[in-house]
Amino acid sequence: MVQLASNNRHKTQAVRVRNVTLGGGAPVVVQSMTNTDTADVEKTFEQVKALFLAGSEIVRVTVNNEEAALGTIELRNRLEREGLDVPLAGCFHYNGHKLLSDFPDLCMALDKYRINPGNVGFGQKRDTQFEVMIEKAAEYNKAVRIGVNWGSLDADLATRLMDENAARSQPWSADEVMRETLVQSALINAAKAEKIGLRKDQIILSAKVSRVQDLIAVYRELAKRSDYALHLGLTEAGMGSKGIVATALGEGILLNEGIGDTIRASLTPEPGGDRTLEVKVCQEILQALGLRSFMPEVSACPGCGRTTSTFFQELAQKIQRYLDVKMPVWKESYPGVETLKVAVMGCIVNGPGESKHADIGISLPGTGESPVAPVFMDGEKTHTLRGDHIAEEFQALVDDYIQKRFGAAQDEAA
Ligand code: SF4
Repeated sequence: MVQLASNNRHKTQAVRVRNVTLGGGAPVVVQSMTNTDTADVEKTFEQVKALFLAGSEIVRVTVNNEEAALGTIELRNRLEREGLDVPLAGCFHYNGHKLLSDFPDLCMALDKYRINPGNVGFGQKRDTQFEVMIEKAAEYNKAVRIGVNWGSLDADLATRLMDENAARSQPWSADEVMRETLVQSALINAAKAEKIGLRKDQIILSAKVSRVQDLIAVYRELAKRSDYALHLGLTEAGMGSKGIVATALGEGILLNEGIGDTIRASLTPEPGGDRTLEVKVCQEILQALGLRSFMPEVSACPGCGRTTSTFFQELAQKIQRYLDVKMPVWKESYPGVETLKVAVMGCIVNGPGESKHADIGISLPGTGESPVAPVFMDGEKTHTLRGDHIAEEFQALVDDYIQKRFGAAQDEAA
């Protein structure tokens, strides 16, 4: 039998972040981050709201100075006033200890503190500043992501591992030492946090790199050596298709091995581009792997020389758009509709077969075929469409199918 890759999830501690659970076998959580100045509450609120409504289950904001700290507090108040229960993570570098000490309301406004041990402070101050942040998280019962990054490696640890490497009879490559430094840095700092008083179920680890293969190697090792919840993300993934492909590959391979409890796509938006793209990319990664369903899927064949018309591509696009537009309402009225699978196929070769595998599918006539389009529902041929209104009639059948199948689920639940 040809089997799928293991769906066994790497066992991790469950971490509660407001009303969301990360790890412990919970569904993989989608995260995102704002790119507004957090001191600008209006703009940040609008972006947090857009990311949350697009499906981001945790939203991270930068807290880099006092204005941003005050902005975060106001942001939480504003979210509460608008009835938006958004889990907020705060990203700290260098002065997090001070901001968390000076603003108790900031400690409360955030649900998770992101601490990069390589950017906590310098020299001897580093340990005390790290300690202060962890103590605040323990005091306010908040989750902490200990997020190491290859761009800000712990210099002392890197030097020690380099020295150890030099003494090896067969030294590792510089990349191997870098990867080991990241893994050790994450684990050493997590152990320190536990010693200071944080519970294991308050800790999430990440180790961000910008190359796909490094990401896979580092996270496999973290999963092997610990059971902390893991946040996956490729740092500086890049713009456009490059960033999307690299993120999908790196995170997808790990998720397929059962590694990863929450993901983010760190895409560089096009100027003026839509920040919510990073949420959609995460959702599509999880949906493509069969880990979660967010949106009905429309599969269309790529087309080939058997069909010279673009009708099936236009129909597939139209149906996808129709589903996208309807989803916000359908999500409420038709529970489970996000699992719907629609097929729009270009000719008889794969059309009927693929359509039968979908919940509802249509096989359009290819070049030279008789101008009829059989429609299949739940594997059975139910209709044959012909004439000039195939697209409208198929859309009406999709509507009808959704109402009967997912409306019924709601009636039963009521
Ligand atoms: S279904 Fe037909 S048109 Fe579409 S790719 Fe296959 S052979 Fe070509």
